[in-house]
Amino acid sequence: MSNIEQTLSIIKPDAVERNLIEKIKSIFTKNNLTIKEDKKIHITKDEAAEFYKVHQSKPFYNDLCTYLSSGPIVVMILEGENAVVHNRKLMGATNPKNAEENTIRKLYGISIDKNSVHGSDSIDNAKKEINFFFKS
Ligand code: ADP
Ligand code: MG
Repeated sequence: MSNIEQTLSIIKPDAVERNLIEKIKSIFTKNNLTIKEDKKIHITKDEAAEFYKVHQSKPFYNDLCTYLSSGPIVVMILEGENAVVHNRKLMGATNPKNAEENTIRKLYGISIDKNSVHGSDSIDNAKKEINFFFKS
């Protein structure tokens, strides 16, 4: 049975800065994820703090919010079969050092904080995150 989902993907400042937008997008499209919407934006630190609210108790929260608001990002709605898990698999582990070969983070990530992409981790969070950036 087919299970078409949507998930939110972000190309983070380190990857935008290194002109990796098209390379990362092509990894999604070659792997059967359709880019339904996409936009390049530059968010404020307050917006980043709202987006990453689930991490507010973590020691890295402040740096994370500073980082996500440090330059342009590309936010996308990806759609496809099991899109949430599929995107997480294409991204690879949070720390690029631990990411599997040929994942986005293994190919392009610099460090645990500059790891090139964000992806929703559940259907529920995907809905919230899509709504955060693409209010209908
Ligand atoms: P993921 O992005 O793989 O879902 P998390 O949700 O756990 O990972 O963390 C959100 C983001 O916070 C990560 O992508 C990474 O940029 C940053 N981060 C996570 N853990 C650390 C850490 N120990 N030190 C610095 N930054 C971190
Ligand atoms: Mg996460």
